[in-house]
Amino acid sequence: MPSQIHRRHLAPSESLASMFQFCSRLEAMARELVNPISDLFDVACRHHTVKVSCQCGNVGIFDPHALWYLFERKGWNDRLPAVRKRMRCLQCYYAKRKRTLATLELADVDHTRQLPMPDIVEWKRQLRRRR
Ligand SMILES: [Zn+2]
Repeated sequence: MPSQIHRRHLAPSESLASMFQFCSRLEAMARELVNPISDLFDVACRHHTVKVSCQCGNVGIFDPHALWYLFERKGWNDRLPAVRKRMRCLQCYYAKRKRTLATLELADVDHTRQLPMPDIVEWKRQLRRRR
């Protein structure tokens, strides 16, 4: 019934809530556009964790600071497409399975893989360098 649908849409609380949701989504999108996440350092600054999944089902969630520090120490490119190619699944490696490209996602859950964290002096030096 069209009139009922219409009334439901105009319920003030509902439209306010969805309006707010829409606005905050727009704001988040705008922020990403101004400064898109392109490397591990950006990920760390936005406080995301990095979820790496292999086709075999192995999933690792990494702290972005620690992962960035690993790449920094090794002198590896920390841009996300390069990170994706660099990540290796140890389970596949030990099982001698053919290597497949991992899937990289940004997550908001705690990390599950332990890597050494950068020391605070090094981290602040990087922050200054990039500002
Ligand atoms: Zn695997």
